[in-house]
Amino acid sequence: MRAKTKMIHGGITGDEQTGAVSVPIYQVSTYKQDSVGNHRGFEYSRTGNPTRHALESVIANLENGTAGFAFGSGMAAITTVMMLLDSGDHVVMTDDVYGGSYRLMTKVLNRFELDHSFVDSSNPEEVEASITDKTKALYIETPTNPLLKITDLEKMSQIAKKHNLLLIVDNTFATPYWQQPLDLGADIVLHSATKYIGGHSDVVAGLVVVNSDELAEKIHFIQNSVGAVLGPQDSWLLMRGIKTLALRMEAIEANTKKIVEFLQSHEGVSTIYYPGLEDHKGHKVAEKQTSGHGGMISFDVGSGERAEKVLESVKYFTLAESLGAVESLISLPAKMTHASIPAERRAELGITDGLIRVSVGIEDSEDLMEDLMQALK
Ligand SMILES: *Cc1c(COP(=O)(O)O)cnc(C)c1O
Repeated sequence: MRAKTKMIHGGITGDEQTGAVSVPIYQVSTYKQDSVGNHRGFEYSRTGNPTRHALESVIANLENGTAGFAFGSGMAAITTVMMLLDSGDHVVMTDDVYGGSYRLMTKVLNRFELDHSFVDSSNPEEVEASITDKTKALYIETPTNPLLKITDLEKMSQIAKKHNLLLIVDNTFATPYWQQPLDLGADIVLHSATKYIGGHSDVVAGLVVVNSDELAEKIHFIQNSVGAVLGPQDSWLLMRGIKTLALRMEAIEANTKKIVEFLQSHEGVSTIYYPGLEDHKGHKVAEKQTSGHGGMISFDVGSGERAEKVLESVKYFTLAESLGAVESLISLPAKMTHASIPAERRAELGITDGLIRVSVGIEDSEDLMEDLMQALK
């Protein structure tokens, strides 16, 4: 089955018993046992719920994995995966990871002595040089937020195998439609499904997929122990989102390409970050490992003051955090998504005050370009 077909027919997509072509929302916490200890696959909804199970089977299928897991948020998914590690272990991470992942490592998990190093993972030598005898995992985000830096996942997989490390990939930006990290050698792929997978700015959720029974068992044990599971209603919303993921990604990418071209021709815009551009640093690797360049663009308008004016003047781009929705969103990383990263570190990473990030939606591209044009004036 190809990806577009999997989105409609992959995993469990209907109800065997009634023939319903949409999985019912099993709004239930506990299940009748036929005799003591003899149940029909479900005991208690933290451990397993049929609606969540259907979603978990679809995402496993889409990522070419064997088992999927759904959580109450992307951060709950990431935290659960980090619980695979022990105190004293060390994780090598992409330096411009999502702000929440940075905060989790530096303000929460550090208290449990889970150590970390942030490195520019687009440079494999830097990754390898930061590995110590305590290192147990590589945690990679590609493309990253907001500079859309690209990490070569096959190279990461070679390094992980050589040093016996878990390779964990946050695939939120690329989506399983454009990039399948498990096929490139990752052990664990995870998502903030709040973004493209949900796709309609109406649900907060996280997903994890693995392709080994041993890891699946461990993650299920932690999912059930920690309990940060996704509810049945939200599981259903994600399945509904997945059905149009391919269509949305195609429409979003077509719009994005036009907007990039427009920005290139605008004199008020200096640097543009988009992996589809030939002069983007990660372009070659992106061409090799992804089948599309997605819908995120960051561009510099020179100063924080000017950027704020643009954000206040747009009509169709909604000023909001988050990304990956049908509606176009616009944000100022330095003051919004990346505000929790110290100013000094932001400067090191190249996240300037005038850097605007847009998440392109599926509106008419002419309207979007006209809107940016008037806002940039
Ligand atoms: C949003 C996001 C997260 C966190 O997900 P939530 O659903 O907000 O908890 C993690 N990684 C990336 C790349 C994100 O964009």
